[in-house]
Amino acid sequence: MAEFELIDAIARRVRRRRDVAVGIGDDAALLNPPPGYQLAITQDTLNESVHFRSGDDPEAIGCKAAAVNLSDLAAMAAEPAWCTLSLALPDADRPWLDAFLDGFTGLLAEHDVALVGGDTTRGPCSISVTLLGLVPEGQGLRRDAGKVGDDLWVTGSLGDAAAGLAGMGSGDQANYLRGRLLRPQPRIAAGLALRRHARACIDVSDGLLADLGHVLRASGVGAELWLSALPASPALQACTEREQRWQLQCAGGDDYELLFSAAPVDRVAIERLVQASGTPVARIGRLVDTPGCLISDPDGQRWQPSDLGYQHFQTT
Ligand code: ADP
Ligand code: MG
Repeated sequence: MAEFELIDAIARRVRRRRDVAVGIGDDAALLNPPPGYQLAITQDTLNESVHFRSGDDPEAIGCKAAAVNLSDLAAMAAEPAWCTLSLALPDADRPWLDAFLDGFTGLLAEHDVALVGGDTTRGPCSISVTLLGLVPEGQGLRRDAGKVGDDLWVTGSLGDAAAGLAGMGSGDQANYLRGRLLRPQPRIAAGLALRRHARACIDVSDGLLADLGHVLRASGVGAELWLSALPASPALQACTEREQRWQLQCAGGDDYELLFSAAPVDRVAIERLVQASGTPVARIGRLVDTPGCLISDPDGQRWQPSDLGYQHFQTT
């Protein structure tokens, strides 16, 4: 099968949007962003043997390639619109491509994203996605916008993907945790709900403390974090002791939740708007002027994770 047949197979899956003047098939796509909006652009790559293994389910790989990019736009409060796909494949394996596209275009369709171009080459399996989104001028949520006195919030629950990677739990619980790892649900609706209310925002991909660290450094502030407030799914609660759970919640990667700060005056609005978007949200700490991150356990004692460097892409 030739390159153009693969591209044709991809092009047939494409969702249409009215703001795509020229999509797949020309030298470049032509897009019509609405006036008054900024473009938010993000790119993430998944490489075989680094981010996934050769025998992994291609549908889950496609889903994840879309999800990790969507999550970055969610963290900017941008509405996803268009994407390109650079695909390197060792051979023209049509069943693999079809299953990959099921996952990839399936999740993109849920968020009304049109695939408008890309590149298809032979090589070690690698998937690189560039996703473009729209945000009203000045309303993008940046990492450097946190202020002393802000509340710290997180969507959903933490630690599930890391527990799934470690193969924890059994039966339905194990399936739930594994599903959180393989098919993360990007928090697009929550990100949009946070426009005009949140200050700093980041998606939790490398682990809560690692990603909070990025916000603290960019914003020039410190944080207090309350372990008793960290959201845990019923599955995680059922298969962990609390020390182990805190470890997974603080240092485990791949959750793709949103971590954000907001002024206390916005507390009620945030609970109402984020929950109305179908997303649970929890207040887990606050920003302070002392640098660093002070973590307290339910008795008010200081706590430190034993392992900060959780490798979220480690192959087991
Ligand atoms: P060029 O030689 O001009 O780079 P290509 O032959 O690489 O063109 O691609 C032809 C068309 O197919 C272009 O519009 C390109 O954007 C699109 N395309 C190629 N590969 C992909 C892909 N993996 N996903 C989506 N569109 C693709
Ligand atoms: Mg090309």
